[in-house]
Amino acid sequence: MNYIATIGLEVHVQLKTRSKMFCDSPVEFGSEPNTHTCPICLGLPGALPVMNQEALRMTVLTGLMLGCDIATVSKFDRKNYFYPDMPKNYQISQYDMPLCTNGSVPLHDLAYPKDAQKNIATPDKEVHLVRIHLEEDVAKSLHLENSTGIDFNRAGTPLMEIVTQPEINSPEEAFAFLTALKQILIYGAVSDVDMEKGQLRCDCNVSVRPEKETELGAKIEIKNMNSISGVRRALAYEIRRQISVLESGEQLEQETRGWDDTAGETFLMRTKEFAHDYRYFPDPDLVPVKTDVLVADVRERVPELPKAKRARFVEQYQVSSYDAAVLANDLALAKYFEMAAKGAKKPKNIANWILNDLQNALSAAGKTIHDCLIPPEALDELVSLIEVGKISGKQGKEVFAEMFATGRNAAAIVKEKGIEQLSDSGSIETLCDEVIKANPKPVADFKGGNVASLNFLKGQVLKLSKGKANPQVAGEILERKLKA
Ligand code: MN
Repeated sequence: MNYIATIGLEVHVQLKTRSKMFCDSPVEFGSEPNTHTCPICLGLPGALPVMNQEALRMTVLTGLMLGCDIATVSKFDRKNYFYPDMPKNYQISQYDMPLCTNGSVPLHDLAYPKDAQKNIATPDKEVHLVRIHLEEDVAKSLHLENSTGIDFNRAGTPLMEIVTQPEINSPEEAFAFLTALKQILIYGAVSDVDMEKGQLRCDCNVSVRPEKETELGAKIEIKNMNSISGVRRALAYEIRRQISVLESGEQLEQETRGWDDTAGETFLMRTKEFAHDYRYFPDPDLVPVKTDVLVADVRERVPELPKAKRARFVEQYQVSSYDAAVLANDLALAKYFEMAAKGAKKPKNIANWILNDLQNALSAAGKTIHDCLIPPEALDELVSLIEVGKISGKQGKEVFAEMFATGRNAAAIVKEKGIEQLSDSGSIETLCDEVIKANPKPVADFKGGNVASLNFLKGQVLKLSKGKANPQVAGEILERKLKA
């Protein structure tokens, strides 16, 4: 029997504001525990929250980037539950009036896992969203041998929750969704989305049903995953597990599970009867938010999005759509390309150098484009030197390696190495004349129809020039002279 999986995601993204959601304590990862706190984010009695305007703007900006409807008026609510990492015993969140509703995230081929890119079930799928709301992050528990420590530095960090419609149908699609979403958030500069720092966390709802069945199966939630590949593996595991339960004739019940990344398994956390009742109610300390000013503020911050950038690169620079996609996948790489291609005659050559030599060199050196020593203009200069025949392609690679290691510019390296090719036809002509005069037999052979003799004569010209003559120019001149 065939089964269909139905997946919905709830994604939590930390916004990169300087201060927390409702106080002026700094947002900083990796500091000494409990050094970025104040009475507000510690939930001390009588402390009053004040909204971080920039967090509101970033959420509205995200909504605009994802084509959401922005609520005219939005409000904050208290979500009540007891947990040691939440000092107030409620989280300020949004219940029935979130900042954004609807919208979607377009998937694209390169957002899928590498091994799944050749076999995409629904290319160009868009995953629709239910809502985006804004809330505060909780503190972080550190489980020690005999005790638990709590670090309140994270408590109160602005956290955006993005909820999808249940219309994702495979672990690979979930992977593509998260990758595409992450790219857009980076484009909008609303989050660094660094998963190692917990800046993107994901809960997945997943159910399976036999293909012929229309009613959805029991919804099972997997909580708190912090890597995109982990989400893919957890979903693959969970779908297999649910199918095998059904095949054995048992029933599935709504429940919440955790993911053990090391063991590669999900495990039961709680069943439906222990589900929380959050007793939401409007936070009386915070007035509702009118969004008209926020929308006007962020309109001009909406960037060109990955999809539009890919299309423009193909159109403007005549690169292949695959190359455009690889460049646009990484905003920093895309910027580098555009700066290098700005003055280039053949931007496609620039793209080739970036996607092959530069990318290879970076990954071999364990570096990113951010710590690349070659400025974009210098790469353009190198490519031009090759295009006009000053150096050969092979010499270009040598010069590139030196540029990559030292950051020096191409012209200086070429001069120092004395590898400049002789391309001006005047001096090559003289060399050709000498070679023709000194080699009557091969010349006669060529004239008699032995085409291969030309290579021999060309070789002599190169030798005479100590390897500096541009072989293509030399070949052309020889041929012209011998055919005359
Ligand atoms: Mn949440």
